Amino acid sequence: MTDYAILLKENGLKATFQRMNILDVVEKNGHMSIEAIYDEVSKLHPSLSLATIYKNIILMVEKGVVVEVPVAGKKSKYELSKMDHIHLVCSECGDVEDKPCMDETDKMFQDLTNREHFILNKRQVNLYGVCEKCQVKQAS
Ligand SMILES: [Zn+2]
Ligand SMILES: [Zn+2]
Repeated sequence: MTDYAILLKENGLKATFQRMNILDVVEKNGHMSIEAIYDEVSKLHPSLSLATIYKNIILMVEKGVVVEVPVAGKKSKYELSKMDHIHLVCSECGDVEDKPCMDETDKMFQDLTNREHFILNKRQVNLYGVCEKCQVKQAS
């Protein structure tokens, strides 16, 4: 498990209990909307408001601790910043699945950014479509 206090301090943020709680919830559940994070965190801290959670998440996104995953036509989801990976985002149910980057795509990005004299720091690849579960639902 990640040491959230160290993670926050390394990124220039104070390690408050609220932030550590948010990170704990997000790491356990994977990609979550702010509302879903709020539902979980408020079980432990009923006095926390949605606005406070929201502010903390946005701050942690700015500092690179948390990553925002835009979901087409729905609210963004958030996850702990980790190794670069590819997202399969379902536009029906909003489910986000992690897939490892492939050597081929890595090479493609390197070639492209080298050619453009662009320094690549972080990649986020989101592929939008319909997941297998929703395909089954549509067919029936
Ligand atoms: Zn789906
Ligand atoms: Zn992810």
